[in-house]
Amino acid sequence: MGNVFEFPLKQHIGNKAAACVVKGDVIHRGQLLALQGDGLGCNIFSSVSGKVLEITDESVSVEADEKQTTDYIPLKSEEPLDLIKEAGLVGLGGAGFPTYAKFAKPFEKGGNVIINAAECEPILGHNIKRIEDNPKQLIRGLEIAMDISNAKHGYIAIKECHKAAIEALKNVNTNSKIIIKSLEDIYPMGEERAVIREVLEKLLPVTALPLEAEAIVINAETACRIQEAVDLKKPLIDKDLTVAGKIKGCEAKVKIQTFLDIPLGKKVSDVFEMAGGLSKEYGELIMGGPFTGKRTNLEKPIIKTTGGLIASECFMKGPEKIGLLVCACGANKERMEQLAKSLGSEVVGVEYCKQAMEVNGTRKCENPGKCPGQVAKVMSLKKAGAQGLLISNCTDCSNTVMSCAPQLGLPVYHCTDQALRAVNHKLIRKIK
Ligand code: SF4
Repeated sequence: MGNVFEFPLKQHIGNKAAACVVKGDVIHRGQLLALQGDGLGCNIFSSVSGKVLEITDESVSVEADEKQTTDYIPLKSEEPLDLIKEAGLVGLGGAGFPTYAKFAKPFEKGGNVIINAAECEPILGHNIKRIEDNPKQLIRGLEIAMDISNAKHGYIAIKECHKAAIEALKNVNTNSKIIIKSLEDIYPMGEERAVIREVLEKLLPVTALPLEAEAIVINAETACRIQEAVDLKKPLIDKDLTVAGKIKGCEAKVKIQTFLDIPLGKKVSDVFEMAGGLSKEYGELIMGGPFTGKRTNLEKPIIKTTGGLIASECFMKGPEKIGLLVCACGANKERMEQLAKSLGSEVVGVEYCKQAMEVNGTRKCENPGKCPGQVAKVMSLKKAGAQGLLISNCTDCSNTVMSCAPQLGLPVYHCTDQALRAVNHKLIRKIK
């Protein structure tokens, strides 16, 4: 079998797209493969030229021609919002919310568009790489977003540690309505409500939408793809990625690589090959960042919400009985159970950070990154028989856990450990 690209029909929040090609169709890069149906959803385009190989209920597969080009079939719409919708743009930071829907109702007065350029997850660096390479594109994407939404102000929220990117943005920004706002370098400063809190000084309740703070928040790459959709009539067919970890022959300094414009649908195995090839031994493959990424495998395709691919360090042996302390902004309970199993540990208790509120079947933090205290949770897990803790807490809460658990004889493991060890990154532990 040749080089097969797979395009899932649901890569976003909302309804599955409906395939509009048939097996055997000859396809060009930028051709529509699946159409957004009624309700929330988005179109899916081919990132390669080739032939439709298979259509299932879940995806369209295309056998790619040997020779590929970077050109594409342009979008047909004329108006900016129509182009964003036609392009199949979604939140590329991982949320996958269809972008056009965020702009459905323009602000009547005031209003703020905030670019989330925090690049909050450790290891990931592709958003910052694009900003450093082409800061004008982000500014232009933000200006388009401000025009469509009738917003008075635009903000670019970016961690203070990304000094070169901040400098690059300052050098090209001539728009007095756009403000660059630096964020503290802690996790989870990129959480949507944390970004609004830091930029607009308003802490929204967990059930509120950004519009309640007169804000629309979009990820940095999404803003750049808005520029491409509107100015270049380019559908969403390429994705920026960070590839990291146990890569063959990599010196420590190149254990983290960033790639811009990788065609969507490419297999995980092919992306690792492109980065140098996987090492013989690794713990797991993670799609996403160390905190919120999910385990994946070599056969999966790159989709619109993929930001990172990490081959983690091999798992160490955990304690026989382990307690889980789950954060709303880090690995969820199911992921923590998976990690505990990989550590060879039996889960004897599960606690949630007391700020991790349940909202519509998921968890959201009441005040992201500001620790409410963890001692009671640690004690409760010890009482349940835990001989060690696996935590997914934010920076501040991990500090708190580290200030009490070891004294109680409980070693602490963090959900990010294997990924961070693979790139020689400092572990999420007590920060001095
Ligand atoms: S305060 Fe708790 S729920 Fe919120 S980010 Fe920190 S650990 Fe997670």
